[in-house]
Amino acid sequence: MTQYDYDLFVIGGGSGGVRAANMAAGLGKRVALAEQRHIGGTCVNVGCVPKKLLVYASQFHDQFEAAKGFGWTVGQSTFNWSSLIANKNQEITRLQGVYNKRLQQSGVNVITGSAKVLNANTVEVEGSSYRAERIIIATGGRPFVPDIPGKEHIVTSNEMFFLGQLPKRIIIVGGGYIAVEFASILNGLGVDTTICHRGDKLLQGFDEDIRDFLAEEMTQKGISLLFNTDIEAIEKMASGFAVRLIDGVKMTTDLVLYATGRTPNSSGFGLEALGVELDDDGAIKVYDDYQTNIPSIYALGDVTNRVNLTPVAIAEGMALINKLYAQQPQSVDYENIPTAVFCQPTIGTVGLTEAQAKEKHSDIDIYKTSFTPMQNALSGLDEKTLMKMIVVRSTNQVVGLHMVGTDAPEIIQGMAVAIRAGATKAIFDSTIGIHPTAAEEFVTLREVSVLSE
Ligand code: NDP
Repeated sequence: MTQYDYDLFVIGGGSGGVRAANMAAGLGKRVALAEQRHIGGTCVNVGCVPKKLLVYASQFHDQFEAAKGFGWTVGQSTFNWSSLIANKNQEITRLQGVYNKRLQQSGVNVITGSAKVLNANTVEVEGSSYRAERIIIATGGRPFVPDIPGKEHIVTSNEMFFLGQLPKRIIIVGGGYIAVEFASILNGLGVDTTICHRGDKLLQGFDEDIRDFLAEEMTQKGISLLFNTDIEAIEKMASGFAVRLIDGVKMTTDLVLYATGRTPNSSGFGLEALGVELDDDGAIKVYDDYQTNIPSIYALGDVTNRVNLTPVAIAEGMALINKLYAQQPQSVDYENIPTAVFCQPTIGTVGLTEAQAKEKHSDIDIYKTSFTPMQNALSGLDEKTLMKMIVVRSTNQVVGLHMVGTDAPEIIQGMAVAIRAGATKAIFDSTIGIHPTAAEEFVTLREVSVLSE
């Protein structure tokens, strides 16, 4: 008999934790997973999945408009938020069931409750203690909201998925992924939407052309963008809220959404007392192969606050389990991670921005094109597409691809394979396009830095 109840105890049933638990159990290890709320974590319950369902819902408005140009007469359309949320909830419950079943089939013991790490090898859940040879912390993150007078009146992305009713007007604070995605969703659903951002552009860290183009497109769709400002205070009124900005501007609204980043879930369950090292933002510090400073304790995903994306957490879980139990040490490669923003129009991007490329290389060629996608020749919609390619002249290597437009995430996912394989511009040029598509523009870009209409 071993001295441990489990070979591995995973805390957190989100994307990274579930993958690690399933894999380890599949390799014959005795595994437990503790989750205090809902299996699937942020992505399944209050993130990627429900967000994408709301994105679909928000696109019908434009589609109904577009249909006219193609000869359709669409009857009067109405939208029912409660029905969308009920259907979304049903789908999320189904997905939770799939996750639970998979864990059960793998032989993972799922323990419901809030876990506490008592020492390097012991976890307590709801009064019961479990000894494990190794512990993985995969507890994710939660919305961060700065302290402002009236903070109690705001909502975060967590609550947005369960609103009792759709507001008529909303102010969204922040200029990152969640702010622009929710702005597009709500605007598409007919909500009078304002973004209030402390910076001078949306989506810090993205290519400047993408940032400028998105702002133009969002404005053109009727979203108000307020830059270089912030909320100073929020007051509840008989109906709605009075909002005062730092520059003295006063506004009224029905809802204020804060999308001002996320905080790692690393406190309150024993890590501090045990001396697990955290960084200044509260993220668990990990060394080689996701090991913390306590050798039997590992951490992965958003709680380590590195690249906070579901597929990255999953890749980290797989890499760790392969290393620990399958003698296959293969690290996650954090270069060229493709990413998407599901705003309207969507963004897909992989590799270096123009600014990053210029920092790394002295000889950069930029290829750009912006055009009206074919559907909009008849749809009457004004939405345009932007594509940008960044090439190192001396090696001919394509080091960055960026797109704003319909299906950009789908297109860039495929392109990311080429970028990771080290494709040169010559390879792109010799690839035959699929006609007529927007994606074919990436293999027909011939002139350096020309922005065509
Ligand atoms: P982001 O880090 O993307 O953006 C946070 C925004 O809030 C920034 O614009 C930031 O401004 C602003 N901000 C931060 N602190 C304050 C403050 N105190 N007062 C006012 N503004 C502030 O975070 P999100 O919350 O949008 O998303 C969290 C993470 O979730 C993302 O980084 C991403 O990793 C992940 N995510 C991924 C998605 C996807 O893959 N499609 C979708 C949604 C989320 P500034 O730029 O000046 O710092």
